Amino acid sequence: MTRGFAESLARVRDSAVPNARDIAFLLDSEDPEDRSLLFAQSARVRDEVCGRRVAVRGLVEFSSFCRNACRYCGLNRANDRAERYRLSFEEILESARLIFDSGIRTIVLQSGEDGGDAGFLSEVVRAVKGTYDMAVTLSVGERERADYELWRESGADRYLLRVESSVPGLYASWHEKRSLASRMRCLKDLRELGYQVGSGVMVGPPGQTTAHLAEDIAFFGRFGFDMIGIGPFIPHPDTPFRGAARGDVGLTLRVIAVTRLVARSAWMPATTALGSLERDFRVDALRAGANVLMPSFSPKPASRRYAIYPGKDRSRDRDGEGVAALERMAREAGLGLDYARADSLRMGDPPPQI
Ligand code: SAH
Repeated sequence: MTRGFAESLARVRDSAVPNARDIAFLLDSEDPEDRSLLFAQSARVRDEVCGRRVAVRGLVEFSSFCRNACRYCGLNRANDRAERYRLSFEEILESARLIFDSGIRTIVLQSGEDGGDAGFLSEVVRAVKGTYDMAVTLSVGERERADYELWRESGADRYLLRVESSVPGLYASWHEKRSLASRMRCLKDLRELGYQVGSGVMVGPPGQTTAHLAEDIAFFGRFGFDMIGIGPFIPHPDTPFRGAARGDVGLTLRVIAVTRLVARSAWMPATTALGSLERDFRVDALRAGANVLMPSFSPKPASRRYAIYPGKDRSRDRDGEGVAALERMAREAGLGLDYARADSLRMGDPPPQI
């Protein structure tokens, strides 16, 4: 065990405002004994605060059109090799039916930043909410407050918008003509409008250090997100970051574990990216403190074209047996599947300090 590791771990776990230097120290250790101690504690916090359960969300990737130019993402508008599609209203409702019939009570509607009129998505949300008793989560990028407001009034319950990096210079280096300030504006609007808000980061895009990740984790704690998604960066061959190294899986799992200690009640997915590598690392993520699985219910051709990074459909193939595969994953991590809506566990907490 590394000298001082247990003490840093206890400080991060027990202090209301954890210190970024302690967090970085935990992230930097590759010692197996340190890792065992860290994961045992993060899993324990998860079990005590959230219960020994894994919530299930059904994902529908309904459009691959995008007006944004994130340098890591295969859907960015400059990638003219990306296959663009939009699911019809009927196709989205059919996916919602499949999700509901599987017993799952949350649908996540995700797309590229498909600009355009907010009315279509508003109608989709209304139809889903009017037909099925389930929570609707949106994940469609940065929009005007008025659009977020319309969708909320239409019945949307939750919104996922990763901060990607909480460090302004790093954020700017990964995005064209976008700033951390505009992302923060969106996150604050979403919170004010009463959405349950999810965020997160990738581990390993170019230029990111563990000191940056420690800032991100401290930021998660300050904002008080309801959900936090963390996955490895996977280079896409048709993006400016094609030559970059893939994010480290071990570090990704440590980021999940330390985030659990800081953002104790957050719903944290074992992300699709962790299920898309040479082997499936989602059970490892559950063992490190994650507690959500998010299988894709998009029609197969759509989920193949929704290529934010290569290999993404592997996780889908691994989920091929449907909920039985998810139940097995949960069981391997000593947890049970929870099919309920699984709303924010933070509701009723004091308002966050942004
Ligand atoms: N357009 C929506 C959804 C983006 S896809 C939005 O902007 O929020 C969801 C997440 O996938 C992104 O937030 C990003 O963190 C992640 N992602 C994108 N490209 C990736 C890559 N090459 N490797 C790993 N994760 C990636």
